[in-house]
Amino acid sequence: MVDLKGQYDKIKPEIEQAIHKVLESAAFINGPEVNDFASNLEEYLGVKHVIPCGNGTDALQVALMSLGLKPGDEVITPDFTFVATVETIALLGLKPRLVDVDPNNFTIDTEALEQAINENTKAIIPVHLFGQCANMEEILRIANKYGISVIEDTAQATGASYFFDSGEKKKAGTIGDIGCTSFFPSKNLGAYGDAGAIFTNNDELAEKLKYIVNHGMKTRYYHDYIGVNSRLDTIQAAILNVKLKYLDEYNSSRQVAAGQYDKILGDHKNLIVPQKVSWSNHIYHQYTLRTKDIDRNLLQKKMMERNVPAMIYYPIPIHRQKAYANADYNETNFKVSNELSESVISLPIHTELTSKQIHHISSTLTEILNIL
Ligand SMILES: *Cc1c(COP(=O)(O)O)cnc(C)c1O
Repeated sequence: MVDLKGQYDKIKPEIEQAIHKVLESAAFINGPEVNDFASNLEEYLGVKHVIPCGNGTDALQVALMSLGLKPGDEVITPDFTFVATVETIALLGLKPRLVDVDPNNFTIDTEALEQAINENTKAIIPVHLFGQCANMEEILRIANKYGISVIEDTAQATGASYFFDSGEKKKAGTIGDIGCTSFFPSKNLGAYGDAGAIFTNNDELAEKLKYIVNHGMKTRYYHDYIGVNSRLDTIQAAILNVKLKYLDEYNSSRQVAAGQYDKILGDHKNLIVPQKVSWSNHIYHQYTLRTKDIDRNLLQKKMMERNVPAMIYYPIPIHRQKAYANADYNETNFKVSNELSESVISLPIHTELTSKQIHHISSTLTEILNIL
């Protein structure tokens, strides 16, 4: 699905030099590379504050902690997503309120979102799934109307752009009150281990977030907030500093690969290629197709038998997961996420894919479809 070794080989000397420098300095925690990376990412994103942290899940947890919510407060998030989004809400004793997604772009259904709001709703976590932004302009309108905070989960969309009706352009994760991202190795900007970051333009929140990731500590051994230990390792920061320079290049190679898949697969009667929205570009964290009139699980099995990886993101919607099951859930509210979990399939997409590989993957897929 990804080729991290191929990508590493191209920047090997720069990476090794950066790691070596950290080893020599022995500043493994909060070394100068961590601050450098935060400043470089602030500049790249056009955001006032970047607070590095241990991983994307921690980023979401810390963001929620900074809002000062009380047990029982509700947080709305999509049903069709990676579990981390919901996990952090539940961990903090908050109530996740799951809503359905849009069948065409897989992001939160904004009508369902507005209907799910009640007097306990305190935050919305839209997820920019697979590399494309949720409809932030509509989400902000709803959030402002009801006085609710917005935390963007931009773990799959680092570097994506959002286009406002006014013509204004912003980077994903810098639009709501707080943005959270992950630098898990396979993400669009990937470290060589776990890593994450939180973004905000709000000075007050930034200060709080910065303390929470480091034991709620303002001055050494003075703890003003309940915090966590979620710092970005200096070695990972050094690696990310090198890789950030290539992020735009990485995202365009994913777009080129996706364009080639679109061309080959766009007219197939059993497939719907990823649809693009008007308000965001797509940086293809995943290249996810919808299948029609076929047995998707059998298709995946046959692909694997022919050594072509194909993955299901995500096979079970959150509301049907054992840990998050809730008697209040009504299946009719999750028509789209149920349907997507049975019909989607993702093909390999990464920065090192060649035309030859894309042709091989696509023709294997269409050959299997023809005999299925
Ligand atoms: C990867 C991911 C996360 C979690 O990031 P980690 O760094 O693995 O903790 C959260 N949300 C989404 C949508 C993700 O894809």
